[in-house]
Amino acid sequence: MAKPAIITVDDDPQVLAAVERDLRQRYAAAHRIIKAASGAEALEALGGLKQRGDTVALIVADQRMPQMTGTEFLLAAAGLFPQARTVLLTAYADTDAAIQAINDVGLDHYLMKPWDPPEERLYPVLDDLLEDWRLNADAPYDGIRVLGTTWSPRTHDTKDFLARNQVPYRFLDIERDAAARTIVESAGAESRLPLVLFPDGTTLMEPERRALADKVGLQTEAKAPFYDVVVVGAGPAGLAAGVYGASEGLRVAMIEREATGGQAGTSSRIENYLGFPKGISGTDLARRAAAQAQRFGAEIITAGEVVGVTVEDPVKVVTLADGSRLSCRALIIATGMTTRTLGVPGYERFAGAGVYYGAAITEAATYKDEPVFVIGGANSAGQGAMMFSRFASHVTMVVRAPTLEERMSQYLVDQIRSTANIEVLVGTEVLGVDGPKRIERITLRTGEETYERPAAAVFIFVGAVPHTDFLRGVIALNDRGFILTGPDLGALGTRVGGWPLERDPYLMETSVPGIFAAGDVRHGVVRRVASAVGQGSVCISFVHEYLATV
Ligand SMILES: Cc1cc2nc3c(=O)[nH]c(=O)nc-3n(C[C@H](O)[C@H](O)[C@H](O)COP(=O)(O)OP(=O)(O)OC[C@H]3O[C@@H](n4cnc5c(N)ncnc54)[C@H](O)[C@@H]3O)c2cc1C
Repeated sequence: MAKPAIITVDDDPQVLAAVERDLRQRYAAAHRIIKAASGAEALEALGGLKQRGDTVALIVADQRMPQMTGTEFLLAAAGLFPQARTVLLTAYADTDAAIQAINDVGLDHYLMKPWDPPEERLYPVLDDLLEDWRLNADAPYDGIRVLGTTWSPRTHDTKDFLARNQVPYRFLDIERDAAARTIVESAGAESRLPLVLFPDGTTLMEPERRALADKVGLQTEAKAPFYDVVVVGAGPAGLAAGVYGASEGLRVAMIEREATGGQAGTSSRIENYLGFPKGISGTDLARRAAAQAQRFGAEIITAGEVVGVTVEDPVKVVTLADGSRLSCRALIIATGMTTRTLGVPGYERFAGAGVYYGAAITEAATYKDEPVFVIGGANSAGQGAMMFSRFASHVTMVVRAPTLEERMSQYLVDQIRSTANIEVLVGTEVLGVDGPKRIERITLRTGEETYERPAAAVFIFVGAVPHTDFLRGVIALNDRGFILTGPDLGALGTRVGGWPLERDPYLMETSVPGIFAAGDVRHGVVRRVASAVGQGSVCISFVHEYLATV
């Protein structure tokens, strides 16, 4: 099979020779390096590669070329090899063109000339893009194969686990692929799908996560029994704690039950994370962060679920689902949360456009003098209803429980009852939302009765479930299970959770000294990637302060 190609195009012979030299030096062993002196010549070369069924991993084009600019060339090249990663070589004055190209041709990167020394300014960028291409492009394939059916949850789990852990695989649907079906039948795996075939000839049927993780070479066991810091959860907050902790000389182990990246890892494109003008996929961000943490020496233990925490002062001990135990001086909980969806007709269509999670204060003014619905019966829903009552014409609270008192503090119940434009429907559930372009109606059921009401927006307060079950009785949580830290624990004398020391808890410290929390799992935080990353990194400075005292 021909090696994937890297093609470079520049009309200046000296620059072209220099790029080719640098490319050859590092990439010739695994790639074919092809050069062209104009866009037209490069397109001809690409056409030939396409005809022969070869692959192109990377295209490096100069922007300023006569006849055809680099951007024009990349646009044409994308028609032939849409998955090839693209780099534009620019002069300082071409920065605007390069930024424009990010939108127009999905440019992956632009590099200012000159790029000396290449070890610092060229190779890190290209290494990254080539790795990204290798993991994501439909390259000719002789790796792991997953044989199963599209609608089987176990097959989906296996594919999801591999994809989110950045393990390339190919899926073969046995309902469409006769050869794959024959392999499954001859292995006797029809009732134990998926069947996973590995390049070394071994197979796994209906694999457990741990077995799969072991087989694909992910670390599933800690290398040592004791660490300075154990981080539970490797979403953005945990990964940031791993990077900062390890880079600052701490021995760090991170334990992740599913895949690095957490909720962010499931996002197809994160557009608002600083430094990625083109956006970045959650898996890509997770891959980079995990590699960064490991480069500094942090261990990432995958397919390991923490089920218990005990404090043997000053040592903290975590117990994993397989019964193994790991001890540490400081523990960081970064286990995030799961957002539940309403799962009713219309929800997907209007999500973010009439259906919102939480208080969405920024949206309140949009629905001034219109009827809005608040779904949920806990304090957060009550607070939301009070806030919306100042803008909306009418606020209807939809509460599944038979009374408002069941999950809400009495002071809030009293406030709601004395607010004229809030109505409470107890024992009621949402069946759907509907409208031509925006929400106009909500369908409800109270007891046996199903009915419609006019609605302009629906704010959902039933969704966030923090991953803190294993911490109940160990550290102080709020009424919804989110972790209380620092000032949330209250003032001296009235502190919740039995804080034992004279000093105040640090900002991200829980009610147990030396156990910290970061990211979505904390009470009262902004739930965003940047926020989680910020908390994970800042948390390490509090860990240092704590370690200096014990
Ligand atoms: C689909 C989607 C799209 C999003 N898009 C954006 C966006 O565009 N921009 C933005 O800023 N934010 C976005 N968010 C929000 C953002 O992803 C979260 O705020 C962020 O991921 C929180 O990071 P975290 O590390 O605190 O928690 P999480 O990302 O939830 O990570 C927690 C990790 O802990 C692991 N874990 C849990 N319990 C255990 C246990 N007992 N043992 C071991 N491991 C455990 C979980 O498996 C998970 O990997 C999005 C969220 C979702 C769901």
